[in-house]
Amino acid sequence: MKPNEQRVAVVTGGSRGIGRAICLELGRLGWSVVVNYATRPDAAQQVVAAIESMPGQALAVRCDVSQPADRDGLIDQTLERFGRLDMLVSNAGITSPGRKDILEAGPDGWETVFSTNLKGPFFLCQRAANEMVRQIRAASIPAGKLIIVSSISAYAVSVNRADYCIAKAGLSMMTKLFAQRLADEGIQVFELCPGVIASDMTAAVTEKYDRLIAEGLWPIRRWGQPEDVAKAVAAIAADSFPFSTGCRFDIDGGFHIRSL
Ligand code: NAP
Repeated sequence: MKPNEQRVAVVTGGSRGIGRAICLELGRLGWSVVVNYATRPDAAQQVVAAIESMPGQALAVRCDVSQPADRDGLIDQTLERFGRLDMLVSNAGITSPGRKDILEAGPDGWETVFSTNLKGPFFLCQRAANEMVRQIRAASIPAGKLIIVSSISAYAVSVNRADYCIAKAGLSMMTKLFAQRLADEGIQVFELCPGVIASDMTAAVTEKYDRLIAEGLWPIRRWGQPEDVAKAVAAIAADSFPFSTGCRFDIDGGFHIRSL
């Protein structure tokens, strides 16, 4: 039997970009993976097919994380198919619509960004955590993990993406809150803080970051790749941090270092 063969992870936003790389990495490790998507079933099915050619098993589930009934459906379908939930990777997110200056941005964008990037992840983590607590108490799973994908935007300002930055900053506190509450239950909680990663989300700003990276905006002068984030998830999934919770993993080429 391959290691972790029975363990089950839900990855939100698993159809593209960072989430896709996380799904594939977990599939390689033999996890059963629920590949969540919002609008692109074909992309999610491609990820499922790739995982099923590896040691892992997979299921694609449509769920808009901003919608309560969809979130319940995601967890319910996971349990129906696999019977357990060991890890949730809350990765799905959107950028700020229109990237408007902080003095002009209206409330509509806030509603969408906050419900997708903060409120949805909070209540999905809550639902997943409650399932994990139930299963741990029933000795159906040994432990649980929540992995929350935030961003360097949790602490670095972009004045044309205030909604995105504030929502991501909220995820940092959310990580600590769940970590504190869930430690006694046997559930670890981690925040992943990616820097600028090559994906559809950053495709529109390629030229800007090509230039800034060449100028040394962060010490490791290259774009981050989705696989860089997936490797951090793999390390957590492999129980490499047994005495850690509530902490932030910087996957940013060293962007977080302050220098004079
Ligand atoms: P991406 O390439 O734009 O992919 C977004 C993924 O999220 C897609 O799978 C999409 O599904 C899904 N999604 C969007 N809205 C959703 C919703 N309401 N419900 C469920 N799924 C939804 O983005 P990415 O670059 O991989 O980013 C992934 C996460 O990393 C986001 O939280 C982002 O904020 C964060 N992040 C990204 C960067 C970066 O530089 N790229 C840096 C720091 C943090 P469909 O395919 O069905 O549309």
